[in-house]
Amino acid sequence: MSEKSLKDYQDKRDFNQTREPMDNKNASYDQPIFVIQKHDAQNLHYDFRIQSKGVLKSWAIPKGPSTDPSIKRLAIETEDHPLDYADFEGVIPEGNYGGGKVIIWDKGPYENHSNKNGNSLSVDQAYDKGHLSIWLKGEKLVGGYELVHMHDDQWLFIKSDDSEADARRKPTHTEPESVVSGKEVKDL
Ligand code: MN
Repeated sequence: MSEKSLKDYQDKRDFNQTREPMDNKNASYDQPIFVIQKHDAQNLHYDFRIQSKGVLKSWAIPKGPSTDPSIKRLAIETEDHPLDYADFEGVIPEGNYGGGKVIIWDKGPYENHSNKNGNSLSVDQAYDKGHLSIWLKGEKLVGGYELVHMHDDQWLFIKSDDSEADARRKPTHTEPESVVSGKEVKDL
């Protein structure tokens, strides 16, 4: 499995200043994983990442994920992150890229269900076509989600209309804590 470049990620950061992981060192998983990190930086947002070919493909979702299939959330593509980033929770010092607090809001395995006319597509193929269909198996988010490319770095993140959809649930409001430490961003 060829690893993608982390140069953009590394160029943005000074690893003498931040405790974010520099590289893929420790992490390995039996199944591909996703992670959602709540990031209280200049603007609060949720970073959605999915494992593909040794890196985490990443999007920043300003309003966070919804479990309501009628809601389309803007997702702004950001640089690939190292797989080890899925374990990062902590404070990025002020003055650094992304300075602020990060908690692991949700994490778990995911399945790639992307297809074109019934033929399965790899994550890369689906990404190139601008439409990813994934099935999350997190602690907070479960079920199908779609990532649909609009233009430039702008995508939409949408809950699929399946048995796990729930228009009344608002997990970003009712479940603000880390699935790893139980802490909220304000506790860091
Ligand atoms: Mn972020």
